[in-house]
Amino acid sequence: MKIGFIGLGNMGAPMAANLLKAGHEVTGFDVAGVTVEGAATASSAGDAAGGKDAVITMLPDGAILRKVYEEIVPAGAAGSVFIDCSTVDVDSARAAHQMAQAKGLLSVDAPVSGGVGGAAAGTLTFMAGGSKEAFARAEPLFDIMGKKAVHCGDAGAGQSAKICNNMLLGISMIGACEAFALAEKLGLSAQSLFDVVSTSSGSCWSVNTYCPVPGVGPESPADNGYKPGFAAELMLKDLMLSQQAADSVSATTPMGARATELYDEFVAGEGRGRDFSAMIERLKQG
Ligand code: NAD
Repeated sequence: MKIGFIGLGNMGAPMAANLLKAGHEVTGFDVAGVTVEGAATASSAGDAAGGKDAVITMLPDGAILRKVYEEIVPAGAAGSVFIDCSTVDVDSARAAHQMAQAKGLLSVDAPVSGGVGGAAAGTLTFMAGGSKEAFARAEPLFDIMGKKAVHCGDAGAGQSAKICNNMLLGISMIGACEAFALAEKLGLSAQSLFDVVSTSSGSCWSVNTYCPVPGVGPESPADNGYKPGFAAELMLKDLMLSQQAADSVSATTPMGARATELYDEFVAGEGRGRDFSAMIERLKQG
C-alpha cells in the first residue's frame, strides 16, 4: 500500500518504520522536520496525504488534529482510509470523522496502548471507532503495528475506550501507591503485600504487572529510577480528556476527578518526566 504518515514523533516514527519493514511504501511528514529512514519525505501534510491508499496521523492533541485534517482531507484520494492514532478528545475525533465523511473518505479513530516500547516492537493495542468497512480496511495495518485491534463501535468509540481505560489506570495506580505507602508505615514489607494482593481481590495491572515499588514483582519503571514507561504528564493528559468527556455527557466520575487533581499537582511539582508510578514517592512524603 501507499501510506502517508503524519506526525513522526516518539510513537509515529517507529510505527512508520514497522510499516516500511512490512514492505509498504511510506511517505512521511512532521512539522519538526523529522524523517524516517527508508520513507519518502513530503513537503507538507497535504502532500503526504495525496494519492495514498491509507493516511495515518499520530499527533499531540485534538486542536492539531483538526488543523491537519483541514489540510489532508481535501488532498485525500477516493477510496483512501484515514486512520488517526493520536490520543485526542472525543469531540475532535468525531469532527475528524465528519470531515473525512463529507469528502467520501473512510475513517477510523484508533488510539493506542503500549507506549514507545510497543510502537517499536509492533505490539501496540489499537482501540478503534468507525464503520465496519473502514475498520476492515485499516486492520491489516493494525496487525503490522500492533498485536491486537479491537473494533469498539462507531466514530469516537476508540477514543472513548482509551480514556475510560486510562482513567481506570490512573485511579488504580494511585490506589496501588496508597496501599504500598500505608503498608510501609504499618511495618508490612512490600514483598509480603505484593504476595498477598497479587493473588487476592486487590490484584490489578498496577500491582501485578507494574508494581510501583522497586524490587517487587516483574521488572517495572520502579526498578529503573521511575524512568518512563508511561510519563506522568501523559497520564495527566488522558485523565484531563476523561474529565472533559465526563463533563460533556454529565457523567459522575469523582475518583477520576481526584486522580486528575493528584496528577496535576504531581506534574506541576516533581513528577514531570518521571513515570506515573512515581506517584508513590509523593504519597510517602505525606
Ligand atoms: P510526540 O510529541 O513525540 O510526537 C508528535 C509529533 O507530531 C511531533 O514529532 C510533532 O513535531 C508532530 N506534529 C505536531 N504538529 C504537527 C503538524 N501540524 N503536522 C505534522 N506533524 C506535527 O508525541 P508521541 O509520544 O509520539 O505521541 C503521539 C500521540 O500518541 C499523542 O496523542 C499521545 O498522547 C499518544 N500516545 C503516546 C504514548 C507514549 O507513550 N508516548 C502512548 C500512547 C499514546
